[in-house]
Amino acid sequence: MNAMDHDRLKENLSAFVDGELSADERRELKAHVAGCPGCARELQELQGVSSAVRAHGEEHAPAALGASILREAGRERGSADRYRASLVRAAAVLAAAAVLLVFLGNRFKPKLVDLVGGFVSGWSPATAAVGATKAP
Ligand SMILES: [Zn+2]
Repeated sequence: MNAMDHDRLKENLSAFVDGELSADERRELKAHVAGCPGCARELQELQGVSSAVRAHGEEHAPAALGASILREAGRERGSADRYRASLVRAAAVLAAAAVLLVFLGNRFKPKLVDLVGGFVSGWSPATAAVGATKAP
């Protein structure tokens, strides 16, 4: 190894740790570090700092907070979706009932009118009273 290589490669140590070197540069640096205790020590220090920075960047509290916010947002969205879905279902049922009623109404109009009329008159207080007096 020569001093120029050492200085040049030493400059690349942090880039190496950050994964910013090309494959060729990495190979060259590894070969140099293998035979250079100074660079090997510096690389170890840089890797220690790098992992400490990474660990700091991935602090658990903010990550948990972010996760809980996402979970809350998902729950909100989920319940809103369920509410909307139940409204859609109710509307669909009403629409189907309306269509069925129109269909039945057109097809059995006289019967339906009789049925509804009989039902309504059957529930009037007068007939209810008559029915009550007629009952054994
Ligand atoms: Zn070196």
